[in-house]
Amino acid sequence: MDTKDVIYELRTKKGMTQDELAEKVFVTRQAVSRWENGETVPNTDTLKLLSGLFDVSINTLLGSPRQLICQCCGMPLEDEIIGRDKDGTLNEDYCKWCYADGTYTYSDMDDLIDVCVKNMSGEGFTEEQARTYMKQLLPSLDYWKRYEELSDDGQFDALKKQLIQEINDLHIEGMPKLEKLNALVGQYVNLEYRLPSGKSVKFLDDGTTYLGNQLESESGEDLCYGVLANMDFIMVCTYRAEGADPELLIYKKR
Ligand SMILES: [Zn+2]
Repeated sequence: MDTKDVIYELRTKKGMTQDELAEKVFVTRQAVSRWENGETVPNTDTLKLLSGLFDVSINTLLGSPRQLICQCCGMPLEDEIIGRDKDGTLNEDYCKWCYADGTYTYSDMDDLIDVCVKNMSGEGFTEEQARTYMKQLLPSLDYWKRYEELSDDGQFDALKKQLIQEINDLHIEGMPKLEKLNALVGQYVNLEYRLPSGKSVKFLDDGTTYLGNQLESESGEDLCYGVLANMDFIMVCTYRAEGADPELLIYKKR
């Protein structure tokens, strides 16, 4: 699809007139009309405004000339899984697992490879093949090439360590010791808890990236401990297979 069709489609899907769109991105109605006729393409600043307004990547606005790849984990990027800067704008270099609200979530390539291999197994790869593939792919990606420049001197790692310590210090009965926290996107871990009143409640934001992990109960029964945390809170729950019967054990502000 060309830029002209993309803009037309996004605008009409939002139910906006050319005038309304023009006003939102500080151009004239004629300018919008010229984009939609294919006479001109919005300039870089306007593309950024349109990206924010329609919540799509600039790559999508330009008719997807490139297949975007996360420059940390190598995953192909669709608009829904692109990471965001602190101000909410899309950062087309990263997926939202690797880059969340302006923070890089991986500082150790081997950690990332472990997570990716787990997600890739069962997709026609053996674990060995997946590992070999990732070991070859990751060093060629921009984040790992520029790691010295992009990394935050271990600040994020320090936060992870601190959280792991705090969570283990809660001494939750039956829960194995927490060794690691991974980046998890809210929508995949946002369980619904039932209140005594019968109402259901969720605690997380679908679009936000949290740190967390799943630990299998030491008692041998089919029970998992779900840990989630960030700068502001720690939350621990239990659930059965596939997230069934979730129960909140602790929700603690930091
Ligand atoms: Zn990624």
